[in-house]
Amino acid sequence: MTALLEADNISRHFRVRDSGRWFGGGATLKAVDGVSFRLDPGRTLGVVGESGCGKSTTARLALGLLPLSGGAVRFEGEPVRAANDAAWRLLRQRMQLVFQDTMGALDRRIAVGRQILEPLQIHGIGGPDEQRAQAMTLLEAVGLKPHVFDRYPHELSGGQRQRVVLARALILKPRLIACDEPIAALDVSIQAQVINLLLDLQERFKVAYLFISHDLKVVRQVSHEVAVMYLGRIVEQGAPGRLFRQPEHPYTRALVSAIPVASPQRTRQRLLLSGDPPNPVDVPSGCAFHTRCPSATSVCRARTPELRALPDGHRVACHLAHGDTGTHASVAA
Ligand code: SF4
Repeated sequence: MTALLEADNISRHFRVRDSGRWFGGGATLKAVDGVSFRLDPGRTLGVVGESGCGKSTTARLALGLLPLSGGAVRFEGEPVRAANDAAWRLLRQRMQLVFQDTMGALDRRIAVGRQILEPLQIHGIGGPDEQRAQAMTLLEAVGLKPHVFDRYPHELSGGQRQRVVLARALILKPRLIACDEPIAALDVSIQAQVINLLLDLQERFKVAYLFISHDLKVVRQVSHEVAVMYLGRIVEQGAPGRLFRQPEHPYTRALVSAIPVASPQRTRQRLLLSGDPPNPVDVPSGCAFHTRCPSATSVCRARTPELRALPDGHRVACHLAHGDTGTHASVAA
Protein backbone atom coordinates (compact mmCIF):
# COMPACT_ATOMS: atom_id res chain seq x y z
CA MET A 1 0.00 0.00 0.00
CA THR A 2 1.28 3.47 -0.86
CA ALA A 3 1.85 5.50 2.29
CA LEU A 4 -0.34 8.57 2.70
CA LEU A 5 2.61 10.53 4.06
CA GLU A 6 6.24 9.50 4.01
CA ALA A 7 9.19 11.41 5.41
CA ASP A 8 12.58 10.15 4.33
CA ASN A 9 15.55 11.36 6.38
CA ILE A 10 14.21 14.93 6.59
CA SER A 11 16.12 17.71 8.27
CA ARG A 12 15.76 21.42 8.89
CA HIS A 13 18.84 23.38 9.91
CA PHE A 14 18.93 27.08 10.77
CA ARG A 15 21.93 29.37 10.82
CA VAL A 16 21.92 31.32 14.08
CA ARG A 17 24.21 33.87 15.67
CA ASP A 18 26.50 32.27 18.21
CA SER A 19 27.23 34.80 20.94
CA GLY A 20 29.85 32.45 22.37
CA ARG A 21 32.09 32.78 19.33
CA TRP A 22 34.52 35.55 18.70
CA PHE A 23 34.22 37.75 15.61
CA GLY A 24 30.46 37.06 15.37
CA GLY A 25 30.75 33.52 13.99
CA GLY A 26 27.51 31.68 13.26
CA ALA A 27 26.32 28.27 14.38
CA THR A 28 23.85 25.69 13.05
CA LEU A 29 20.70 24.80 14.94
CA LYS A 30 19.52 21.36 13.85
CA ALA A 31 15.80 21.66 14.65
CA VAL A 32 15.09 18.40 12.81
CA ASP A 33 17.92 16.08 11.93
CA GLY A 34 17.37 12.89 9.90
CA VAL A 35 13.75 12.04 10.73
CA SER A 36 11.93 9.29 8.82
CA PHE A 37 8.39 7.99 9.26
CA ARG A 38 5.41 6.63 7.37
CA LEU A 39 1.74 7.35 7.96
CA ASP A 40 -0.96 5.23 6.32
CA PRO A 41 -4.47 6.44 5.39
CA GLY A 42 -6.90 6.81 8.29
CA ARG A 43 -4.19 6.21 10.91
CA THR A 44 -2.61 8.41 13.57
CA LEU A 45 1.08 8.93 14.19
CA GLY A 46 1.64 10.59 17.57
CA VAL A 47 4.83 12.60 18.03
CA VAL A 48 5.91 13.39 21.60
CA GLY A 49 8.85 15.04 23.30
CA GLU A 50 9.81 18.03 25.38
CA SER A 51 9.31 21.56 24.13
CA GLY A 52 11.95 22.39 21.50
CA CYS A 53 12.57 18.76 20.46
CA GLY A 54 11.53 19.50 16.85
CA LYS A 55 8.07 17.92 16.74
CA SER A 56 6.23 21.04 15.49
CA THR A 57 8.95 21.73 12.91
CA THR A 58 8.60 18.13 11.72
CA ALA A 59 4.86 18.69 11.14
CA ARG A 60 5.50 21.90 9.19
CA LEU A 61 8.14 20.19 7.04
CA ALA A 62 5.73 17.33 6.35
CA LEU A 63 3.08 19.78 5.10
CA GLY A 64 5.53 21.79 3.00
CA LEU A 65 5.12 24.87 5.21
CA LEU A 66 8.88 25.04 5.75
CA PRO A 67 11.60 24.22 3.22
CA LEU A 68 13.68 21.11 3.87
CA SER A 69 17.42 21.32 4.48
CA GLY A 70 17.68 17.67 3.44
CA GLY A 71 15.66 14.53 2.76
CA ALA A 72 12.28 14.22 1.07
CA VAL A 73 8.56 14.16 1.90
CA ARG A 74 5.94 12.41 -0.24
CA PHE A 75 2.16 12.70 0.08
CA GLU A 76 0.22 9.96 -1.74
CA GLY A 77 3.46 9.31 -3.63
CA GLU A 78 3.84 12.94 -4.79
CA PRO A 79 6.81 15.02 -3.59
CA VAL A 80 5.88 17.76 -1.12
CA ARG A 81 7.71 21.03 -1.73
CA ALA A 82 7.61 24.31 0.14
CA ALA A 83 6.28 26.33 -2.78
CA ASN A 84 3.27 28.49 -3.52
CA ASP A 85 2.27 27.39 -7.00
CA ALA A 86 -1.00 25.87 -8.25
CA ALA A 87 0.24 22.29 -7.78
CA TRP A 88 1.17 22.96 -4.18
CA ARG A 89 -2.19 24.62 -3.42
CA LEU A 90 -3.96 21.59 -4.87
CA LEU A 91 -1.89 19.29 -2.68
CA ARG A 92 -2.52 21.46 0.38
CA GLN A 93 -6.30 20.98 -0.01
CA ARG A 94 -5.69 17.41 1.09
CA MET A 95 -3.44 18.35 4.03
CA GLN A 96 -4.62 20.67 6.80
CA LEU A 97 -3.05 22.03 9.98
CA VAL A 98 -4.81 22.60 13.31
CA PHE A 99 -2.96 24.18 16.19
CA GLN A 100 -3.65 25.25 19.76
CA ASP A 101 -4.17 29.00 19.30
CA THR A 102 -7.77 29.07 18.07
CA MET A 103 -8.06 32.88 18.27
CA GLY A 104 -4.98 33.12 16.05
CA ALA A 105 -6.44 30.59 13.61
CA LEU A 106 -9.73 32.46 13.22
CA ASP A 107 -10.43 36.01 12.08
CA ARG A 108 -12.25 37.73 14.94
CA ARG A 109 -14.03 40.15 12.55
CA ILE A 110 -15.77 37.42 10.53
CA ALA A 111 -18.66 35.16 11.63
CA VAL A 112 -17.42 31.58 12.06
CA GLY A 113 -19.82 30.10 9.48
CA ARG A 114 -18.28 32.24 6.77
CA GLN A 115 -14.83 31.20 7.92
CA ILE A 116 -15.77 27.52 7.69
CA LEU A 117 -16.94 27.83 4.09
CA GLU A 118 -14.19 30.27 3.04
CA PRO A 119 -11.84 27.50 1.75
CA LEU A 120 -14.61 26.44 -0.69
CA GLN A 121 -14.86 30.02 -1.95
CA ILE A 122 -11.07 30.32 -2.31
CA HIS A 123 -10.91 27.13 -4.36
CA GLY A 124 -14.10 27.90 -6.32
CA ILE A 125 -15.91 24.76 -5.14
CA GLY A 126 -19.74 24.84 -5.33
CA GLY A 127 -22.18 27.77 -5.31
CA PRO A 128 -23.23 29.86 -2.28
CA ASP A 129 -26.12 27.58 -1.25
CA GLU A 130 -24.03 24.42 -1.54
CA GLN A 131 -21.15 26.02 0.38
CA ARG A 132 -23.47 27.06 3.19
CA ALA A 133 -25.06 23.61 3.31
CA GLN A 134 -21.65 21.97 3.59
CA ALA A 135 -20.62 24.33 6.38
CA MET A 136 -23.85 23.54 8.24
CA THR A 137 -23.24 19.80 7.86
CA LEU A 138 -19.77 20.18 9.32
CA LEU A 139 -21.02 22.36 12.19
CA GLU A 140 -23.32 19.49 13.08
CA ALA A 141 -20.48 16.95 12.62
CA VAL A 142 -18.29 18.76 15.15
CA GLY A 143 -21.16 19.00 17.66
CA LEU A 144 -22.15 22.66 17.25
CA LYS A 145 -25.69 24.02 16.87
CA PRO A 146 -26.73 25.74 13.58
CA HIS A 147 -27.01 29.19 15.25
CA VAL A 148 -23.23 29.15 15.85
CA PHE A 149 -22.88 29.83 12.10
CA ASP A 150 -23.51 33.56 12.70
CA ARG A 151 -21.45 33.90 15.88
CA TYR A 152 -18.03 35.56 16.09
CA PRO A 153 -14.95 33.81 17.53
CA HIS A 154 -14.91 35.87 20.75
CA GLU A 155 -18.51 34.80 21.47
CA LEU A 156 -17.46 31.14 21.68
CA SER A 157 -15.56 29.14 24.31
CA GLY A 158 -12.09 27.73 23.54
CA GLY A 159 -13.56 24.26 23.01
CA GLN A 160 -16.21 25.61 20.62
CA ARG A 161 -13.58 27.54 18.68
CA GLN A 162 -11.46 24.39 18.33
CA ARG A 163 -14.54 22.63 16.92
CA VAL A 164 -14.95 25.46 14.40
CA VAL A 165 -11.29 25.16 13.43
CA LEU A 166 -11.79 21.42 12.88
CA ALA A 167 -14.91 22.05 10.76
CA ARG A 168 -12.95 24.53 8.65
CA ALA A 169 -10.07 22.04 8.28
CA LEU A 170 -12.48 19.30 7.17
CA ILE A 171 -14.46 21.26 4.58
CA LEU A 172 -12.00 20.49 1.76
CA LYS A 173 -12.21 16.76 2.61
CA PRO A 174 -8.52 16.43 3.54
CA ARG A 175 -6.84 13.05 3.85
CA LEU A 176 -4.45 14.34 6.53
CA ILE A 177 -4.73 16.80 9.41
CA ALA A 178 -1.60 17.73 11.33
CA CYS A 179 -2.79 18.53 14.87
CA ASP A 180 -0.17 20.57 16.72
CA GLU A 181 -1.00 20.56 20.45
CA PRO A 182 -4.73 20.81 19.59
CA ILE A 183 -5.96 20.59 23.18
CA ALA A 184 -3.09 22.24 25.07
CA ALA A 185 -4.93 25.56 25.51
CA LEU A 186 -8.25 24.00 26.59
CA ASP A 187 -9.62 23.37 30.08
CA VAL A 188 -9.05 19.81 31.25
CA SER A 189 -12.82 19.20 31.26
CA ILE A 190 -13.02 20.15 27.56
CA GLN A 191 -9.89 18.27 26.45
CA ALA A 192 -11.56 14.84 26.68
CA GLN A 193 -14.50 16.08 24.57
CA VAL A 194 -12.21 17.35 21.81
CA ILE A 195 -10.19 14.12 21.84
CA ASN A 196 -13.37 12.07 21.51
CA LEU A 197 -14.46 14.36 18.69
CA LEU A 198 -11.14 13.83 16.87
CA LEU A 199 -11.60 10.05 17.18
CA ASP A 200 -15.20 10.28 15.91
CA LEU A 201 -14.18 12.47 12.96
CA GLN A 202 -11.42 10.02 12.04
CA GLU A 203 -13.91 7.18 12.01
CA ARG A 204 -16.43 9.16 9.98
CA PHE A 205 -14.14 10.89 7.45
CA LYS A 206 -11.26 8.34 7.35
CA VAL A 207 -8.78 11.17 7.88
CA ALA A 208 -5.21 10.52 9.10
CA TYR A 209 -3.67 12.58 11.91
CA LEU A 210 -0.10 13.61 12.54
CA PHE A 211 -0.69 14.31 16.22
CA ILE A 212 1.87 16.50 17.98
CA SER A 213 1.69 16.73 21.76
CA HIS A 214 3.72 16.79 24.94
CA ASP A 215 0.86 14.94 26.69
CA LEU A 216 1.79 11.26 26.57
CA LYS A 217 -1.51 10.10 28.01
CA VAL A 218 -3.46 11.71 25.17
CA VAL A 219 -0.98 10.50 22.55
CA ARG A 220 -1.38 6.96 23.85
CA GLN A 221 -5.16 7.25 23.55
CA VAL A 222 -5.31 8.54 19.97
CA SER A 223 -2.27 7.02 18.21
CA HIS A 224 -1.76 3.87 16.19
CA GLU A 225 1.99 4.52 16.28
CA VAL A 226 4.11 6.81 18.46
CA ALA A 227 7.45 8.51 17.76
CA VAL A 228 9.45 10.01 20.64
CA MET A 229 11.72 12.92 19.68
CA TYR A 230 14.75 14.31 21.47
CA LEU A 231 16.86 17.18 20.12
CA GLY A 232 15.58 16.91 16.56
CA ARG A 233 15.73 13.12 16.21
CA ILE A 234 13.39 10.20 16.75
CA VAL A 235 14.81 8.11 19.60
CA GLU A 236 12.03 5.52 19.87
CA GLN A 237 9.10 4.51 17.68
CA GLY A 238 6.48 1.80 17.82
CA ALA A 239 2.95 0.77 18.66
CA PRO A 240 1.64 2.63 21.73
CA GLY A 241 0.90 -0.55 23.70
CA ARG A 242 4.50 -1.74 23.35
CA LEU A 243 6.08 1.68 23.80
CA PHE A 244 4.20 2.63 26.95
CA ARG A 245 4.28 -0.84 28.50
CA GLN A 246 7.95 -1.53 27.84
CA PRO A 247 9.84 1.63 26.82
CA GLU A 248 13.36 0.86 25.64
CA HIS A 249 15.04 4.26 25.51
CA PRO A 250 15.95 5.82 28.89
CA TYR A 251 14.41 9.12 27.75
CA THR A 252 11.08 7.44 26.93
CA ARG A 253 11.27 5.58 30.23
CA ALA A 254 11.56 8.88 32.09
CA LEU A 255 8.65 10.43 30.15
CA VAL A 256 6.44 7.38 30.72
CA SER A 257 7.30 7.27 34.42
CA ALA A 258 5.93 10.83 34.75
CA ILE A 259 2.43 9.90 33.48
CA PRO A 260 -0.01 10.12 36.41
CA VAL A 261 -1.47 6.74 37.42
CA ALA A 262 -5.26 6.81 37.69
CA SER A 263 -5.71 4.11 40.33
CA PRO A 264 -4.49 4.72 43.94
CA GLN A 265 -3.77 0.95 44.16
CA ARG A 266 -1.14 1.20 41.42
CA THR A 267 2.15 3.02 41.70
CA ARG A 268 4.92 3.81 39.30
CA GLN A 269 8.46 4.76 40.20
CA ARG A 270 9.22 8.24 38.84
CA LEU A 271 12.52 8.42 36.94
CA LEU A 272 13.93 11.91 37.20
CA LEU A 273 16.31 13.17 34.54
CA SER A 274 19.23 15.25 35.66
CA GLY A 275 19.75 18.65 34.06
CA ASP A 276 17.97 20.46 31.27
CA PRO A 277 18.02 19.52 27.59
CA PRO A 278 21.34 20.67 26.06
CA ASN A 279 21.59 23.78 23.92
CA PRO A 280 20.38 22.68 20.44
CA VAL A 281 23.17 24.65 18.75
CA ASP A 282 25.71 22.68 20.76
CA VAL A 283 24.41 19.11 20.71
CA PRO A 284 26.57 16.68 22.73
CA SER A 285 28.78 14.24 20.83
CA GLY A 286 27.72 10.62 20.34
CA CYS A 287 24.27 10.00 21.79
CA ALA A 288 22.75 13.47 22.33
CA PHE A 289 21.05 12.16 25.46
CA HIS A 290 24.24 11.03 27.21
CA THR A 291 24.52 14.17 29.38
CA ARG A 292 21.23 13.22 31.11
CA CYS A 293 21.22 9.45 30.77
CA PRO A 294 21.69 7.35 33.93
CA SER A 295 22.98 4.42 31.81
CA ALA A 296 25.53 6.33 29.68
CA THR A 297 28.89 4.67 28.98
CA SER A 298 32.01 5.80 27.14
CA VAL A 299 30.59 4.28 23.94
CA CYS A 300 27.57 6.57 24.24
CA ARG A 301 29.79 9.65 24.32
CA ALA A 302 31.71 8.51 21.22
CA ARG A 303 29.12 6.98 18.87
CA THR A 304 25.70 8.21 17.75
CA PRO A 305 23.15 5.38 18.03
CA GLU A 306 21.07 4.82 14.89
CA LEU A 307 17.33 4.21 15.08
CA ARG A 308 17.25 0.42 14.60
CA ALA A 309 14.57 -2.25 14.68
CA LEU A 310 14.49 -4.76 17.54
CA PRO A 311 13.40 -8.35 16.82
CA ASP A 312 9.73 -7.44 17.38
CA GLY A 313 9.92 -4.47 14.96
CA HIS A 314 9.95 -1.83 17.70
CA ARG A 315 12.56 0.83 16.89
CA VAL A 316 14.99 2.51 19.26
CA ALA A 317 18.15 4.62 19.07
CA CYS A 318 20.14 3.40 22.08
CA HIS A 319 23.33 1.31 22.17
CA LEU A 320 22.13 -0.61 25.22
CA ALA A 321 18.57 -1.49 24.19
CA HIS A 322 18.05 -5.08 23.07
CA GLY A 323 14.33 -5.52 23.64
CA ASP A 324 14.87 -8.05 26.40
CA THR A 325 14.54 -5.54 29.29
CA GLY A 326 17.80 -7.02 30.60
CA THR A 327 19.48 -3.63 30.71
CA HIS A 328 16.43 -1.40 31.02
CA ALA A 329 13.78 -2.71 33.36
CA SER A 330 10.13 -2.06 32.54
CA VAL A 331 8.37 0.92 34.15
CA ALA A 332 4.85 -0.33 33.46
CA ALA A 333 2.36 0.46 36.19
FE1 SF4 B 1 21.75 6.39 27.31
FE2 SF4 B 1 23.80 5.46 25.92
FE3 SF4 B 1 21.36 4.69 25.30
FE4 SF4 B 1 22.15 7.18 24.78
S1 SF4 B 1 22.94 5.31 23.85
S2 SF4 B 1 20.23 6.58 25.68
S3 SF4 B 1 23.46 7.59 26.53
S4 SF4 B 1 22.42 4.26 27.21
